[in-house]
Amino acid sequence: MKIEKNTAVTLRYKISDSLGKLLEQSDEPLAYLHGGYGNTFEKIEEALQGQEPGYRIALELQPQEAYGLRDESLLQTIPKSEFPSGVKVGGQLRGQGEDGQSHVFTVLKVKGDKVLLDGNHPFAGKILRFNITVTEVRPATEEEVTHGHVHGAHGHHH
Ligand code: ZN
Repeated sequence: MKIEKNTAVTLRYKISDSLGKLLEQSDEPLAYLHGGYGNTFEKIEEALQGQEPGYRIALELQPQEAYGLRDESLLQTIPKSEFPSGVKVGGQLRGQGEDGQSHVFTVLKVKGDKVLLDGNHPFAGKILRFNITVTEVRPATEEEVTHGHVHGAHGHHH
């Protein structure tokens, strides 16, 4: 069947940067609820609208269309003493930003007794290339539409 509003779409994807370097690859297929539920980026939904299983597409998304621009106010320096032990450069931890929201912070640098953290999504500010293959399309159940996401093997688990 064709992808339209309230279909559950299963796909495989690869994300590369603008130079073609692979950033992320789906080990497992990913299922999302199509039709403006915010399960995936708007530009991807637009490209998949009306397509069927087997459809493949390469899409380039600007930062504003994907994970947003970098926000330098999400860079934070904290004393090493407040830092959980065992987290290394490149490691991640969840914490509260100065905006009061919960962010995943990446450890950028450990210098002396200070630790520099970055609360931006690792893909923020990047132009991203998505390679997508649609593997399955089915009507979403009423419950999935109510919840605004897909259930089952490759979807949401409660
Ligand atoms: Zn649900």
